[in-house]
Amino acid sequence: MSELSVYEVLNRKRRREALQPAEIEEFIKRYTAGSIPDYQMSALLMAVAINGMTAEEMATLTQSMLRSGEQWHLRDQYDFIADKHSTGGVGDKVSLVLSPWVAACGIKIGMLSGRGLGHTGGTLDKLEAIRGFNARLTRKEFDRCVADAGCVISTSTDGIAPADKKIYALRDVTGTVESLPLITASIMSKKLAMGASALILDVKTGSGAFMRKYEDSKALAKSLIAAAKGSGTRVEALVTDMDRPLGIAAGNANEIAETLDVLRGKGPKDVEEVTRAQAVRVLVMSGKFNEGSATKTLDDALRAGRAYTQAEKWIGVQGGDASHLPQPSVTIEVKAPRSGFITAIDTYQAGMFTVDLGAGRKKADDVIDYAAGVMFDRRTGDSVRAGDVIARIQLGKASRDAEELRRRFLSFVQFGDSAPAARPLVHEHLTE
Ligand code: URA
Repeated sequence: MSELSVYEVLNRKRRREALQPAEIEEFIKRYTAGSIPDYQMSALLMAVAINGMTAEEMATLTQSMLRSGEQWHLRDQYDFIADKHSTGGVGDKVSLVLSPWVAACGIKIGMLSGRGLGHTGGTLDKLEAIRGFNARLTRKEFDRCVADAGCVISTSTDGIAPADKKIYALRDVTGTVESLPLITASIMSKKLAMGASALILDVKTGSGAFMRKYEDSKALAKSLIAAAKGSGTRVEALVTDMDRPLGIAAGNANEIAETLDVLRGKGPKDVEEVTRAQAVRVLVMSGKFNEGSATKTLDDALRAGRAYTQAEKWIGVQGGDASHLPQPSVTIEVKAPRSGFITAIDTYQAGMFTVDLGAGRKKADDVIDYAAGVMFDRRTGDSVRAGDVIARIQLGKASRDAEELRRRFLSFVQFGDSAPAARPLVHEHLTE
C-alpha cells in the first residue's frame, strides 16, 4: 500500500465504507512493523470506534492482529486445555478460583492474563501480592506449570499479538477503548493466538463493567464468540453480574485471601456460584462431563479439599508462598449512617476508590500497594442498622484522612427503606 492508499483507506472508513480484507491485513502489518505512524492508526481507530465494522472486517482485523506474532497452538499439544477470559470488574477473582478448581477435576487450564485496567483489578497484580510468585513465565515454564500443577496463569509474552499491544496503548490515549469491534479484535487476537481447545468468556454487565447495559454486554459476548468461528477453539460465554463488587474483598492481597477461603469452601457464596457456573461449562466443553457430572465433580473437589490443595500446589509451582500475605497497616471502619437497606453500590466508583487507595494504577508506572483495598462487609440488598460496620477500608503504606475516605465511600453507596429487586449472578449462557 502506498501512502496515498493509506489515506484512501482512512477516507473510506470515515465515509462508512467497508474495507477489503487485504487492506486491513496490510494496515496492521505495516503498523506493527512501524511503517504506518501512530497518527494514521489513531485516525483509523477513531473512524472504527465511530462507524463500527462489518462482521467480515472484524474477523479480518482479529486474524491480522493474531498473525502479528507467535501462535502457540496449545490444542495440538494437549489432549484438552481450557482458557478463560473476563471482561473485568471489581473484586473479580474468578480466574484465581476457577483455575485450581478445574485442575483438581483433572482438566488442564492455562491463561495469559492482564494487569488492572481503569477501575478494574488485574489477575496478575493480585497474584503478584503473593511473595515469590512468578507471573512472567516463558513458554517452556508455562508448559512445565501445566504439567506439574494442571493450571497456570502468566502474563502475556511480548510474542503474543504484538499488534494489540501497540494498538491498545494508542486506544488508551485516543478515547477509542469502548468500541465493540476493537475490543473484540483485541481480546480474541490474544486468545486465538494461544489456541486453547476451549475458551470460557465471563462477560460482565452492570455499573462496574466496561459494558454497563445488558444489551451491550450481550452484544459483546456474541461478537467475541463470532470472532472465534472456524478457529478450532470452542467458545462459550456467560454474562455475569457486575452491578455490585464480587465477593467481599476488592484489592490484591485481600482478594488472594478470599480466593483461598472460597477454595476451602468458606468464602462468599456469590464468588463460588459465579465460578462454579463457568467451571461447569469448562468441564462440559472438555467432552468428559455432562452438566450433572461436572457439577458433582466440582462440588466433591471443593468439599474434599482437593481444590484448595491444588491451589497450594499451583502457587508453589509458580514460586509463590501465600502463607504470609501483605497486611494492611491501618483499617478504617465505615458505619451505616441510617437504618434500612443498602439499595445500590456504584461499582465503577467503588473500583476507582480502590484504585485510589493504591490497589491499582492511575498511570502505567504507578507501583501497586498490595495490602490496600476494601472489604465490603455489607452488600447490596443487605438490611443494616444505623452504626453497623458496612465496610473496612484497608490502607497499606500510604496514610490518609480517615474521615475523607469514609465520606467518599458513602458517596457511592445508596440506602433505602426496602430491599432492591434481586439481580441474578449469572444472567445468560451463550454459545453463539
Ligand atoms: N481487554 C482487552 O484485552 N482488550 C480490550 O480492548 C478491552 C479489554
